[in-house]
Formats: sequence, C-alpha cells, structure tokens
Amino acid sequence: MIDFEKLKSIILNNSSFLITTHVNPDADAIGSEVAFYYLLKKLNKKAFIVNHSLTPYNMEFFNDGNIIQHYNESIHKNIFNEVDVIVALDFNRADRTVRMEKAFRESNKLKICIDHHQDPENFADHLFIDAKSCATGQIIFEFVKSTKIIELDLKIAEAIYAAIMTDTGSFRFERTTSEVHKIVAELLEIGVNPEKVYDQLYDQSKFSKIKLLGRALNSITLDADGKLGYMSITQKDFDELNAIESDTENFVNYNLSIENVILGILFIELKNGFKVSFRSKGEIPVNLLAKEFGGGGHINASGARFFTNNMQEMIPVILSKAKSYLK
Ligand code: 5GP
Ligand code: MN
Repeated sequence: MIDFEKLKSIILNNSSFLITTHVNPDADAIGSEVAFYYLLKKLNKKAFIVNHSLTPYNMEFFNDGNIIQHYNESIHKNIFNEVDVIVALDFNRADRTVRMEKAFRESNKLKICIDHHQDPENFADHLFIDAKSCATGQIIFEFVKSTKIIELDLKIAEAIYAAIMTDTGSFRFERTTSEVHKIVAELLEIGVNPEKVYDQLYDQSKFSKIKLLGRALNSITLDADGKLGYMSITQKDFDELNAIESDTENFVNYNLSIENVILGILFIELKNGFKVSFRSKGEIPVNLLAKEFGGGGHINASGARFFTNNMQEMIPVILSKAKSYLK
C-alpha cells in the first residue's frame, strides 16, 4: 500500500516542483505529468515539467500553453537545485532520464518517485510505487480519491484517462481489473470523451509513421518454431521515410498478433546505438530478459537501450538469449 498521506504532506509542505519522466515518453508518462501539474496548480504551487525527450506529436494536445519543456542544459542547469521537490513519474531508475541523469542525481533537493514498474533503483527519497497498478495515472487517481487533496476536473481526468487507456493497451492487458474500469467510469462521468482521446492518440498519425509500420511488418521473421516473432527498423528506414523514433510506439505488439507467437521483439536502430522492445504473452518474464542487457520493465513489456553496440551484430546475441526464455 502506498503511503498517500505522506505524499500529500510532501505536496502541501512544499511550494515548487520539477516534474519529469522517462525517455521516449508514452501517454502514461505525459498524461501523469500533466495530471500532476494541474493538481499542483490547483493548490497554487509552482510547477515545471521538463523532459529529456520531445513530446510525441500525438500527445501535443496535452501541451496547452506549452507547459512541457524540452530539457536544455544551458536553460535548465539550475532548476534541479531551485525547486523544493523533484517528482519522477512513470520510471524508477535515474538513467531513464538520459541527459538529465547527472543533474537529477546531483541535486540535493527532495526527490520523490511515483511509478508502477518493478525493480526500483533507490534513487529518490520517497518511492511511491505500486507495481500492481496498470499505469502511473492510476496511482495518481487513487491518490486524489483517497486524500481528497483536490477535486478532479476534466483536464486532469482526461490526462489520467489517456494514461490508463494506453498503458492497458486500450483496456486489454493483464492489469485491466474491474477496479480500473470503475476508475474509468468515474473519469467518463467527469466528462472524458473516449472517442476523442483515442482519436488524438492513435488516429492522427503522420503518413510517414504508417509507411514505417509497413516496413516493420515486412521485416517480421519467425523463429523458435513460430513462438518468437521479431522485426527491425534501421536508420535508413527513418531517413527515407522522414519518420522518427516515437513513430514506432506499439509496433512491437504486431508480433504477438500472429498465431502461436508468445514472444515479440522490435529492434530499432538509433543515431547512436539501438533500442530493443520485448513483449510477451503469459508467464514469459521479459523484464528479466531486458535486465540481462541493462534494461528493465514489466513481466510482459520491457526494453533496453544500447549506446555503443552495433545493432546487426547484437541481434543474434539477443535472439539467442530470448530463445532461452521459451524453453
Ligand atoms: P517500450 O518497449 O514501449 O519502449 O518499453 C516498454 C517498457 O519497458 C517501458 O514501460 C519501460 O518500463 C521498459 N523499458 C523500455 N526501455 C527501457 C530501458 O532502456 N531501461 C529500462 N530500465 N526499462 C525500459
Ligand atoms: Mn506507465
């Protein structure tokens, strides 16, 4: 059980807050930041959102008034030491903030983490973690309901709804409990429009993204008697299609849409290094698989980043390790 009263007292007893989230943020990351930001604003607190990554364009509708800033060392070098509290949302290891990691670690301000991932690093003064929650947004909702620290409004409800919708794979992943549906029912009563949120997040894609998906699908290879499916995207694909890394969100799930496939992998070549996403069905712990490569995540969804290795050289190594999880 998270000590929500403790979290409440930290908020009430401080006046300025720096909110941040992980690299390559999803709608749980951005939605949780925005919900937390408006919560603080309702309490007349000073709040800033600063992220390593740019906000993906499909989440820009959250960014009314440009409340989300893109980390720039020269602009933001003091902010980590000027606020009272640093709030880490939807991640549990400092290295997930990439360029901000050093400033994060070196700050002597109070650090808190609100998250739903496993295996947290001891990187904050207070960890408010519930690995059973489907989304960080769910934890924020439960915090508000249990402490009544503020009254939910439509803006906050919409951000929490987006967080929960995306992190449950539109209400189908394992942690989509009856509790989650009850939360969502409340959010709809506040006025959230599911059709609008879904459309903004998933049905306003750039054409380049859909063309990139075509290449990813075309690259799918089956292995391990059809139990393993993997795809890859190269820098050449990005360049030729004028696509960007965040366009690849959810591509990895297509591996699991093939009959018999229970482990899916997506390899994405980056400008420096590459990224791997793992997805599984059932009991295959891809968080442990990712951990073997310095990454992490959840039992059925995880990832790792490689900053120096060559992707084509590492693919066979990663596939071989992945196959050992199918035995
Ligand atoms: P995705 O494949 O969508 O990027 O990430 C799926 C999940 O894996 C994320 O929610 C996150 O928990 C975890 N994850 C992805 N990449 C990394 C990484 O480089 N390090 C760690 N620790 N976790 C990661
Ligand atoms: Mn999340």
